[in-house]
Amino acid sequence: MLKQKITIALSGNPNSGKTTIFNAITGARQHIANYPGVTVEKKYGRIKHKGYDIEVVDLPGTYSLTAYSLEEIVARDFLINERPDLVVDIVDASNLDRNLYLAIQFKELGVPLIIALNMTDVAEGRGIVVEQETLSTLLGVPVVPTVARSNKGIDDLLDRVVEEALNDREWQPAIISYGADVDQGLNEIEDIIKGTDAYDKKYPPRWLALKCMERDDQIVELIRSDHEISLAVDAICEKTSKHLMDTLEEEPEGIIADHRYGHITGITKKSVKRRIESRLNLSDRIDKVLTNRIIGPFIMMLILYGIYEFTFWVSEGPVSWLEVFFGGLKGVVSFFISEGLLYSLIVSGIIDGVGGILGFMPLIMFMFFAIAIMEDSGYMARVAYMLDRVLRWFGLHGNSVMALLVSGGIAGGCAVPGVMATRTLRDPKERIATLLVVPFMNCGAKLPVFAMLIAAFFAKKEAGMMFIFTLLSWSFALFAAKMIRSTVLKGPKTPFVMELPPYRLPTLKGLIIHTWERTWQFIKRAGTFILAMSILLWAMMTFPGLSEKQIKAYEAQRVGLRDSFLVLPEIKATIKDEKGLEDLDDLVNSYGRAVKEDFESVKALQKNPLFPLAKTIFAERYVQKEGEGSSRMQREAATAYLRYTEELARVDGRQNQAMLKGTIAGRIGQILEHVTSALGFDYRTNIALIGGFAAKEVVVSTLGTAYSLGEVDPEQSGSLSEKLKEDPNWNSLVAFTLILFTMLYVPCLATVISIKKESSWRWAGFSVAFNLIAAYLVCLAVYQIGSAFGLGG
Ligand code: GDP
Ligand code: MG
Repeated sequence: MLKQKITIALSGNPNSGKTTIFNAITGARQHIANYPGVTVEKKYGRIKHKGYDIEVVDLPGTYSLTAYSLEEIVARDFLINERPDLVVDIVDASNLDRNLYLAIQFKELGVPLIIALNMTDVAEGRGIVVEQETLSTLLGVPVVPTVARSNKGIDDLLDRVVEEALNDREWQPAIISYGADVDQGLNEIEDIIKGTDAYDKKYPPRWLALKCMERDDQIVELIRSDHEISLAVDAICEKTSKHLMDTLEEEPEGIIADHRYGHITGITKKSVKRRIESRLNLSDRIDKVLTNRIIGPFIMMLILYGIYEFTFWVSEGPVSWLEVFFGGLKGVVSFFISEGLLYSLIVSGIIDGVGGILGFMPLIMFMFFAIAIMEDSGYMARVAYMLDRVLRWFGLHGNSVMALLVSGGIAGGCAVPGVMATRTLRDPKERIATLLVVPFMNCGAKLPVFAMLIAAFFAKKEAGMMFIFTLLSWSFALFAAKMIRSTVLKGPKTPFVMELPPYRLPTLKGLIIHTWERTWQFIKRAGTFILAMSILLWAMMTFPGLSEKQIKAYEAQRVGLRDSFLVLPEIKATIKDEKGLEDLDDLVNSYGRAVKEDFESVKALQKNPLFPLAKTIFAERYVQKEGEGSSRMQREAATAYLRYTEELARVDGRQNQAMLKGTIAGRIGQILEHVTSALGFDYRTNIALIGGFAAKEVVVSTLGTAYSLGEVDPEQSGSLSEKLKEDPNWNSLVAFTLILFTMLYVPCLATVISIKKESSWRWAGFSVAFNLIAAYLVCLAVYQIGSAFGLGG
């Protein structure tokens, strides 16, 4: 049934022409009263238009809807308690930015809204042209141009009022992002408010949270009525406020206002054309260059590339120091603990596992630092603004950019906050699509995997390769989005608004805090979750181990080799027995170390009767040249010795291989080889990828464990990169494929759980399956085509 009576409220900034419009609509049929309990005048009138009874209420003129003044409270209470069918916001077109501030707040409250774009004559006189269609699309609200003083547009306005009021819509609060810190606080408060019985459904929960954050007296008072909630909410507000003061030196109110204006700038930049350039502020002038249609994206690429160069350049030193440190740590452990299960647990399980990740911490820290500069200065918002147009073409939304960037659009983010950032997307299909492609981004956890493999197989091309992988991850994400949006999540695009908050100079303190927060997050994961995973995986890679009988068989092989070595004629002369052989082994090792140190320590060894032989062995092994001044006999003995140690190493290698293959992890890894051999992955890589389900960093630590367990000569334990480089199963094509696989395959556990929280188990499951299949198909193509062309060597 159509209703015959419509109530509308006129609102707007003082001097926007509200009274003029009210008079134009109501003529002589006006009444005046006071709002209940206060001295604020309430004007209202009743007219008939197209057979409908319309009651028009003239709200007090306000700039904002926060309880800073009596007028604002009156206007707000009227809206919330009386629930008019429609609010007509009268906006001064010649001063659009300022006037839209109120409109945005109506949208956040959720009232059905229509905008009367008044004073269009004044605006035109100043050379300002408002593209009313664009404005309406971006705001998501009907816009009717008027010139109230000469009665122009008033009839159109009334037609539109009737049309809109009949829709009888629910209140739809718009969600505006206020930056990660405030949004986080808002989400927390919103959850608390929604969880209480006392929650007054008249107010949208996020709006209440926002008002608490803005320290709106009236709402704070309302929340106070429930003591416990009030404490929790106060604590969150305090925390957020302190954090903002520490990092940005600004109160929440300031940040919130900045973002609202940023939102408005995003709208007016697209919908207002100025024929005569009016005076621009500093931010506008910087934006003329940085967001310029042509050079803007170019500068952006340059800056992003610069970030990679910077990060790799500054972190090179610290990363190698840490490598040395963890190497030294193993030495210390071997000093205190003899070889055995405990030693293996500490060295292979803990140091290799956790150290493999912490070793890359400097890299990740500097990356976070660069991101903090971009975020705190406001440039990040410009990146989002520029990428926006591209994204829409792929069926995503302007607001998806933030989610993608946070997840690692510039390598180094995390998909968990990325998934949470999709909350700002209103359209459910665009939201889910964003949610599903966010895990393709190169999060901070994938970085160590990339960095390790790049260091091993693409040395000296670090920054370039990182840049390529960033572009690839974007391409995959966008392509997948397009695919999803044209199949399972088909639907129209919604208009979007990007925020452009003013540029500000980041403070060093703020940068350090933001960098540290993220880095700490990372260290905490390495110290807890990853430590636990490393130990679990170590156990899976250690047990059940070989049987006594098998170990004895290998031991017998070694003894056999030794015995036949000792009876060789060229050896018998110098070495009498086992003891003699042990002495020679020791001497060769000490000599190797001494050569690295100094001449004095070499001299000390020269007294040993075995020295000439040891020297010849060393010369043959490393210089691959005959030892100077060695006799023929010594050279033959040296060759025999080297052959013997090689054979011995082969037995050790076979034993370790057999050991690892027999373990729980090894068995699973081998079964998977049936499908992964087509990608060039052996069982050890498979084990690492299984570990990566828990957290992507674990791929590195598990490879570390797998390779140090399968290691041949403990004296030669180079870094994992070194080891992979030497392994015949590995080459640059395998490394490239593994990087792609790590980039694309299943989101980590924490992300899957977040996706479930933001959508459903169904979509979380879809995400796992979709990514796994995508990763397999892409890598299959890359590896097979690459091999066919003989790439990788
Ligand atoms: P209020 O404070 O919002 O109630 O604004 P008023 O209705 O009192 O208008 C303020 C001034 O702007 C008055 O002098 C109006 O005549 C003038 N005015 C209102 N609408 C227009 C318009 O569309 N064009 C022009 N040029 N002046 C207008
Ligand atoms: Mg007035």
